[in-house]
Amino acid sequence: MNTILAIDDLVKRFAGLTATDHVSLNVATGHIHALIGPNGAGKSTLINLLCGELIPNEGRITLLGEDITACPAAERMKRGLARTFQITNLLNDFTVQQNISLAVQARQGNNFRILDTARGRVSILTEVDELLAASRLEPRRDVVAGNLSSGERKQLELMMALAGRPKLLLLDEPMAGLGRLESQQMIETLRGLRGKVSMLLIEHDMEAVYALADRISVLVYGRVILTGTADDIRASDEVRDAYLGLEDELC
Ligand code: ADP
Ligand code: MG
Repeated sequence: MNTILAIDDLVKRFAGLTATDHVSLNVATGHIHALIGPNGAGKSTLINLLCGELIPNEGRITLLGEDITACPAAERMKRGLARTFQITNLLNDFTVQQNISLAVQARQGNNFRILDTARGRVSILTEVDELLAASRLEPRRDVVAGNLSSGERKQLELMMALAGRPKLLLLDEPMAGLGRLESQQMIETLRGLRGKVSMLLIEHDMEAVYALADRISVLVYGRVILTGTADDIRASDEVRDAYLGLEDELC
C-alpha cells in the first residue's frame, strides 16, 4: 500500500509535558484516516507539527517520500499539504464564488495577469464551478459569506482548502458546532472527496468517524494506543478504558 504520510517516532515536549510521545503512524494514499482521542490527548499538537507550526524535538515526518520535518509551513503547502481550521477564515463581504475564486488564484501564485486573458478567466471559473459542484454551495454561489449558516461556512472553508489542490488534507474537527443535518451534509461532502484527496481527520463525532474512516488511530496522553479499523476500535478494551464514561460514543 502506498503511503502518503509517514510519521516516525515523533516527540514534542512542552516544559515538563510530553504532548507527542513517540508517535508513529502512516496515512495510506487515498485513505481517510481518523485521529481520535480525549481532550488534551495531543491531537492539535500533532496537526501543528504536521503543518510546520511546531517543530518536533525528535522524530521524522515524511510526505510523499520526502523528509519535511524541518520544512517551513509554506514549503509544506507547496508540497501538497493543506489544513482547515476550527476558526473560519472567510471574507464576509465577498460572495461564495468570490471567496473560492480568490483561493484558486492564490494557488496560481497571485498572478493577476491571468485575469487579462479570456482563457485565464475561464480556467478560474471552471475550477470554481467544479469546487461548487463538489460541495452543497452551488445554489448559494452569489450569497455573501457573512450570510451563510455555520454548516455552509464549513463547506466553503473546505472548498477553499481544496482550491490549493492538496494531496493530503488535515481536517481539524470539521463537524464542530454543526447541527445534525449539517453534519450529515459534511459527511456526504467528505465522502464525495474520497479517492481524490487523502485526509487526516480529527473528529469527536464518532458517527462521522465510523461513516468515513478507512483507518482510525487513537491518541491518549500523547501516545497512539491503537491504529485499526472501526471494528478494531470498538473491540478494544484499552480504547474503551480511555473513553471511560463516554462508552456510548464508541458504540
Ligand atoms: P487535544 O487537541 O487532543 O485536545 P492538545 O494537542 O491541544 O490536545 O494538547 C495536548 C497537551 O499539550 C495538553 O496537555 C496541553 O495543555 C498541552 N499543550 C498544548 N499546546 C501547548 C503549548 N503551546 N504550551 C504548553 N503546553 C501545551
Ligand atoms: Mg485540540
